[in-house]
Amino acid sequence: MSKRGQSILSIVAAIVLSSTLLFSGFVKALDPLGMCIKLNAYLAYFGIALPDSSLWLQLSTAALTLLEFTLGLNLLLGIRRRLSTMITLGFIVATTTLTLWTYIANPVTDCGCFGEALKLTHGQTLAKNIILLIPSAWLACHPLTLPRLMPERSQWMANIYAALFLVGLIAYTFHRLPLVEMTDYRIGSSLREALFNPQSEESHTDMANFILCSPEGEMLQDSILMADGYTFLVTLPDEDEADDGCNDLLNDLYDLHPAISFYGIIAEENKEQAADWVDRTGAAYPILSGESTQIKAMVRSNPGLMLLHDGRIVAKWSHNNLPTLPEEGIPNLAEYEQRDTSLASLIKLLLWLCLPLAAIVLLPHISRKPNIPNLKNNNKTMRKKIVAGNWKMNKNLQEGVALATELNEVLSTDKPNCGVVICTPFIHLASVADVINKDIIGLGAENCADKASGAYTGEVSAEMVKSTGADYVILGHSERRAYYGETAEILKEKVNLALANNLEVIFCIGEVLEEREAGKQNEVVRTQLEGSLFELTAEQFSHVVLAYEPVWAIGTGKTATAEQAEEMHAFIRQTIADKFGAEAADNTTILYGGSCKPSNAKELFAKPDVDGGLIGGASLKAADFKGIIDAWK
Ligand code: PEP
Repeated sequence: MSKRGQSILSIVAAIVLSSTLLFSGFVKALDPLGMCIKLNAYLAYFGIALPDSSLWLQLSTAALTLLEFTLGLNLLLGIRRRLSTMITLGFIVATTTLTLWTYIANPVTDCGCFGEALKLTHGQTLAKNIILLIPSAWLACHPLTLPRLMPERSQWMANIYAALFLVGLIAYTFHRLPLVEMTDYRIGSSLREALFNPQSEESHTDMANFILCSPEGEMLQDSILMADGYTFLVTLPDEDEADDGCNDLLNDLYDLHPAISFYGIIAEENKEQAADWVDRTGAAYPILSGESTQIKAMVRSNPGLMLLHDGRIVAKWSHNNLPTLPEEGIPNLAEYEQRDTSLASLIKLLLWLCLPLAAIVLLPHISRKPNIPNLKNNNKTMRKKIVAGNWKMNKNLQEGVALATELNEVLSTDKPNCGVVICTPFIHLASVADVINKDIIGLGAENCADKASGAYTGEVSAEMVKSTGADYVILGHSERRAYYGETAEILKEKVNLALANNLEVIFCIGEVLEEREAGKQNEVVRTQLEGSLFELTAEQFSHVVLAYEPVWAIGTGKTATAEQAEEMHAFIRQTIADKFGAEAADNTTILYGGSCKPSNAKELFAKPDVDGGLIGGASLKAADFKGIIDAWK
């Protein structure tokens, strides 16, 4: 399949997966107590009894929510693609196994994947998960075909913002009530209609099964819901764990309104505990019993308070946020009535979530300006800045193509502020040319023959190099001078052939340790320049980039200090000025090479005569190479 085809498939897979994961995470954050109740139902199947609001369940809910949302966000934005796609695959495999078990063993009535927002049968959930296995497996196998929508340096901001937003929402919702009501018991819904009007919308919801029983077992829901006027219902989903700090207010409310119906509701299976609540709180209102899931859905609080008017829900409160009573007299209950603000809250929450995230994603793209460092030497800003990689004899073809693909993606998202070139072994050139955008990454060879063509078995000519799509060639590297006996004369031939074939030459010069210790470095470098380049015309020379590479610093981890590099670069520039004139010298790009890394590149590149780097070892990892390229930012 073509690269484009793969990329399109990955985008589709990421959209499918991320929308599912983002939705699933977001709805859990909207109703975290609902998720705790679902998790607890699974535990109850194994005989583990925990209160719905136990810290353990709250933390598990928050962790699951953050995991799903973060995975969804990272897939959507192409953040940490290898890690995110692997974790997503693991997560989908684990949840598919769980849903298969749920399908077979039926431990809970509803799997809880999407909270109350979307209820699926076990069969539908299993089918959904099996379908999601396909995009997750595809992405795990092709993570780097997924486009990155934002530069690496600001990715953490997107994840941190999303995590803070979700944690804040979860904490707020646990303390108060869900801002967006997802159960059937929403403000404005009529329990009376649910029970008595089969044509009504409410009669198709869980509310149609609403029951209230007296301690003696008499069904009272009909008479209570048919009574006109206001009715308070105190919900007690778990008497043991119920916060009794609010009992004074509840009792006052009951005392102030003797004419108003006021009931507590406890779960049928716990109805003996009604007496404990009365003992603990002095409650004088009658305590009825109802179905446990109904009580948990009515108000997501323990205890919670609901106000009905003519059988319609007109207000709900968490025990942390009960209505206040007037200093004197009885409250006007009409003032307690609330509006269902779920839709407005949902829109506000989505805006608070999406707008800052969009800004985090888009700002780096909008604000990216070429950022040429402020240098003492004015002419430096005129010269081309280059970071060139020299892969040497590393990477097989597949590894090389993968590295080039990764680098291309990284630099397409976060455009470099300098020229970038990768010089690869001959066998990689044509394939790498296919996967890179030449407007962003230049391609070069590491060598070429000193003959134009003919019976030179094993050699590769400059013309052949050019025909692969390459535009650069490294010549005069110290390793070729030392191990393959390349003399100044041979290099002169190579340079001529490369230039004749429209290749830009990256010409390496530099002294060995003994020469530096003997203080002969300038002389050595001048001789190398004279020996291979000084017969060129100024026009030909304008296609040469120089790379000063002290041989003692190559692959040794020992870098020349920025001052040593600057001293030599200034000397080289002066030597060129003497030969080709000041303008040519000013325009010549001189790279530094030798154990250049992300940690020292900035200091080296800040020197007035250092115009970038030729990078060996650190060019073999996209992240390290990118770190050096970013030194120009
Ligand atoms: C090189 O060989 O050109 C080079 C600079 O190597 P390294 O960066 O590994 O020292």
